[in-house]
Amino acid sequence: MYQEKDFDRYPYFKQFTFEHILDSLTGVVARGFIIDYAKELIKEKKPFAMCIVDIDNFKLINDNYGHQAGDEVLKTVASDLAACVGERGLVGRYGGDEFLILFLDGHGYDETHAFVRTLYGPGKAIRRTVCLDKIHPFLTATTGAASYPDDAKDYDELFKKVDKALYRGKIKGRNCYITYVEEKHGHIDVHKKDKQSILVAFEDLSRIANTKQSVHTKIKQIVDYAYDLLGVTRFIIFDPTKEMAISNDKPGAYKYKCVAKDEMEKLLGHKNYYSSSGQNPLSEIKTSYVAVRKYTKDHDILSMLLYRVDFKNDTNGYILVYESSITRIWQERDIALLMYIEKLIEIIYLENGVKEG
Ligand code: GH3
Ligand code: MG
Repeated sequence: MYQEKDFDRYPYFKQFTFEHILDSLTGVVARGFIIDYAKELIKEKKPFAMCIVDIDNFKLINDNYGHQAGDEVLKTVASDLAACVGERGLVGRYGGDEFLILFLDGHGYDETHAFVRTLYGPGKAIRRTVCLDKIHPFLTATTGAASYPDDAKDYDELFKKVDKALYRGKIKGRNCYITYVEEKHGHIDVHKKDKQSILVAFEDLSRIANTKQSVHTKIKQIVDYAYDLLGVTRFIIFDPTKEMAISNDKPGAYKYKCVAKDEMEKLLGHKNYYSSSGQNPLSEIKTSYVAVRKYTKDHDILSMLLYRVDFKNDTNGYILVYESSITRIWQERDIALLMYIEKLIEIIYLENGVKEG
């Protein structure tokens, strides 16, 4: 929580009563004041970076532990962010579970990216266990960042770019930080969220399944569509006919046997899917699944989502989706997508009278 003395180095805030500057719940700078200070820096032509830190799936903390626990998490994250940032900048509450940080000690891609990295990890503010009285949730957040004057000439433009970077991070799988790069993120339209709608995806995928094409072509198109939608490193369907695997890159490059069916079944247990968690990605696999562990090592897998493909009531394949660059926080919609694709594959095979392998 900020103290009055923390503002000694910011003459701008002298004009206000100290108590009014702070957000009443979290004790970091209140929304209006942090935004006005960013605008003031731009007016004075002082370079800085702006970041928005948005807690991942915060709604689940409220839903699982109650709003009071949610409030405690917000307070803890706010004070840990303020401690982590220290004299390098100022933390404010943008609203809800979003914090706005003004990094005043550097700007531009390299300095900003390096700064945001310092907020993540054990003992830092994000991607760590939050220890409250009765609960100890593992907390991750997604951060978007951009710089003045490197990326924008006024506040509105700067905010839009931070928002695009944050949106990209959420789509990419959360638990990550994205610093704005015009060539990579300039085209992002944060208002076209319907593009990401799971219902639109279901309709598009059904259309592909209903076309008059070969079984292999249809499944390849489904794989490529889902790969683009999820933005993962790789999307593979181990073919239910046991002849080959179909992935977003090289069809046929993965043999069915390489997924170690017995271990995959053990991993799935009574459920149809397995998703690695953000806290201990692949920890279960590391200890007791030799073949799967080798597979994850060989493919640099950091987080994975696995779905069983049934064909005529028997396990005949798997959908495997994985990330090599981030420990993705898999969402219900990701699992729903795989569930829908699994049903489509079964229908495609049944309709086409594909022989069992
Ligand atoms: P995402 O990973 O996409 O950010 O998902 P999310 O669940 O974090 O985001 P969403 O915007 O759906 O939910 C934010 C929630 O934060 C919704 C709202 O009820 C809760 N919230 C907002 N302000 C407060 C607050 O002051 N206290 C508590 N406990 N909850 C709050
Ligand atoms: Mg959130």
